[in-house]
Amino acid sequence: MTTLPVTPEQVWTALAAVPDPEIPVVSVTDMGMVRDVTVDGGRVSVTFTPTFSGCPALHVIRDSIGEAVRALGVQDVEVRSTLTPPWTTDWIQEDARERLRQYGIAPPAPAGDSPLITLDPEPTRCPRCGSLNVRMTGSFGPTLCKRLYVCDACKEPFEGFKSV
Ligand SMILES: [Zn+2]
Repeated sequence: MTTLPVTPEQVWTALAAVPDPEIPVVSVTDMGMVRDVTVDGGRVSVTFTPTFSGCPALHVIRDSIGEAVRALGVQDVEVRSTLTPPWTTDWIQEDARERLRQYGIAPPAPAGDSPLITLDPEPTRCPRCGSLNVRMTGSFGPTLCKRLYVCDACKEPFEGFKSV
């Protein structure tokens, strides 16, 4: 197997097909996790920031990214994770927010413009019926990334992201 030359664009395209291990309807690039792609001769380096440092999927993401780049014919792949700057829900691509909603996960409110302390954050909407009449039932969902809510209008539980 020979090493084929690749462009950073090809790498980005390949990474756009790598699903988020916890939310298969979005990719790691949809979530804004991929921070940097460099191609130096036959060597490809990918830097990513996991959505939350507490997420157990870190090594899954690392392996998936490595596999996607190797599938392009690249043998020398370096995948690094960085926590600086920390991932923010603002990095989620706009069209991915809609897919999150269709999947049944309330998209996070943009965190960027909010003051550090806010008493009235962007309200969370039920992804099924759109009602704002929702209650948080627990601080943590199945992972540290999500919160559990229940909708008082349609009585359905759903998951929402913490805005960070
Ligand atoms: Zn509802």
